[in-house]
Amino acid sequence: MSTLAGVLGFPVGHSRSPAMMNAGFGKLGLDWRYLKLPVPPERFEQTLRALHGSGYRGANVTIPHKVAAHDLADELSDTARSIGAVNTLSFRDDGGIAGDNTDAGGLLDALGEPPPGTVLVLGAGGAARAAAWALAQAGAEVTLWSRTPKRAAELAAGLGVGHSERPGPSDLLVNATSVGLRPGDSLEGLPLVDARVVVDLVYGAGPTPVVRWAEERGARVIDGLEVLVRQGARSLAVWTGEEPPVDSMRRAVFPPPV
Ligand code: NAP
Repeated sequence: MSTLAGVLGFPVGHSRSPAMMNAGFGKLGLDWRYLKLPVPPERFEQTLRALHGSGYRGANVTIPHKVAAHDLADELSDTARSIGAVNTLSFRDDGGIAGDNTDAGGLLDALGEPPPGTVLVLGAGGAARAAAWALAQAGAEVTLWSRTPKRAAELAAGLGVGHSERPGPSDLLVNATSVGLRPGDSLEGLPLVDARVVVDLVYGAGPTPVVRWAEERGARVIDGLEVLVRQGARSLAVWTGEEPPVDSMRRAVFPPPV
């Protein structure tokens, strides 16, 4: 019987993780099957316990379950504990559940260079929290902006980074808001400051508005799919101990050129 893994979210129908992760397992010659697991919040804990007893070895966790996964795990990596959220669960042989967070390392992997000196992170939700923590840990001077200034101030205080309602130019700009998730989303209202490198955590069927904006300005652009690939590659490594086949995973997730 195949070893099972999957992605727990609600909704999760749009997820590209099964294609990406199954390509990774296949390339490694491992008999794993990775499935979409749509689970509403009220069923999350019950489902986790059931998966554990049903041949599942691991699960990725996405919106809205990352904090619940953190709270339910029996054991946390330092990164997951510091961020307060889990995106990777491992079901241990002894019945325990280990929680890790590969969003932070995945972002740094996607960046592929030491973070430039100053970073502006837009947003104050879970993705902003992981991004700001990762970049601050890597030595960058991080400033947070949110359309809800109180949220940015609270998050910044918790992480020991700066926040601003009117940020200036920075070396790196990270869009960790959900702006761009829906086609036709407007960039109006986002403080899109000058930056040499731009990361957009949002991804869709084609280039997002932030990616298009950054490309027009000649910035180096890293899109949300690359970050998705890198966090998935780290999850695969957590579960299997193998070097993840990043190129195969990327080919499975990126839309073919039109
Ligand atoms: P979240 O917790 O719901 O936070 C969303 C953030 O976006 C909040 O700060 C919210 O501000 C802000 N926002 C929403 N609409 C806005 C607008 N029109 N103008 C300005 N700010 C706005 O979501 P999340 O988990 O942090 O995820 C954020 C995005 O990152 C999602 O699109 C998600 O798909 C993406 N993501 C990608 C990856 C990846 O691997 N590529 C990983 C994680 C997340 P308020 O608090 O004021 O509402």
